[in-house]
Amino acid sequence: MNEEDRSLKLLIKDSNPAFMNALRRISMNDVPVLAIEDVLIDENNSALFDEVIAQRLGQIPLKFDPEKFELREECDCEDGCPNCQARFSLEGEGPGTVYSGGLVCEDAKVEPLYEGIPITQLDENQQIKLEAVAVLSTGKDHSKHQASLASYQYYPDINIDNRKLSEEDASEMEKICPRDVFKVEDGKLRVENQLKCTLCKECIEEVESEGVEIHGNEEKFIFKIESISALEPQDILERAVEVLKEKSDKVIQKME
Ligand code: SF4
Ligand SMILES: [Zn+2]
Repeated sequence: MNEEDRSLKLLIKDSNPAFMNALRRISMNDVPVLAIEDVLIDENNSALFDEVIAQRLGQIPLKFDPEKFELREECDCEDGCPNCQARFSLEGEGPGTVYSGGLVCEDAKVEPLYEGIPITQLDENQQIKLEAVAVLSTGKDHSKHQASLASYQYYPDINIDNRKLSEEDASEMEKICPRDVFKVEDGKLRVENQLKCTLCKECIEEVESEGVEIHGNEEKFIFKIESISALEPQDILERAVEVLKEKSDKVIQKME
C-alpha cells in the first residue's frame, strides 16, 4: 500500500489474463462512487458560466459510506431520498476564492475528500449561491463516478546462470536495465529488484547471452489499483471482487 498516491500493489497467484482483465475493468468501472450530478444555481455572477461551475462540482471526490448509499434506480423512493442521494449547499461572497471545503452536506458523513479544490474566484460584489445533489453511479455511466485506475502485468520470471555469463556481459546487463533490476557482486549478476522489471526485454536484446532468461509468468500477476475517488484502494478491490462474484453467479444461473 502506498499512502502517498493512494495505490495498492499486490501479487496474485494461480490466475490467468482473462480473470485479471475482468478484475481490472470492474475495479475501474463497476464500483459505485458518489458524485455531484444535479446543480441548482440561485446566484452566480462570477466569471464562470453556470455549466462550468456544475462541471467542476461533479469532479470533486466525495467521502461517503458505501454501505449506506444505493443506486438511484435500485432505491424504493420515487424522487430521491437520503438513501440514494446527498444534498449540498454552497455560498460565497467576493473578493476571494470559493473552495470545495465550502460545500455543506445535509449528511454529516458526506464531505469533499480535499477541502482546497478551487471552484471559482469571486471579485468585489460577486457572489455564488447554489444547491447540488450527489448520486451514486459507476464509471460506465460517467468518468466522475470512476473509482480507480487499475492495471496488471505478468510477474517477471528472471533466471540467471552466471556460468554462461561473462563479467563484461554481467555489468552490461546491470548498466542497461533502466529499472535497476540487476546488481553485480563479485563479478556475478544477481536480481536486486525483481518486481521493478517491466519485461521490456531491453537487457536480453542488447546483451545477447544465454546466461539470462526473462519471461512473463502467465499464472502470476502484479495488480495495481490507484484510487481516483474517495474510496480506499483496498475497499475498491473488495467491492470489485464482490461485483465479479455477482456477475459470475448470474452467468452460471443463466447457463443452468
Ligand atoms: S526486461 Fe527490461 S526491466 Fe526487466 S530486467 Fe531487462 S531491461 Fe530491466
Ligand atoms: Zn431513494
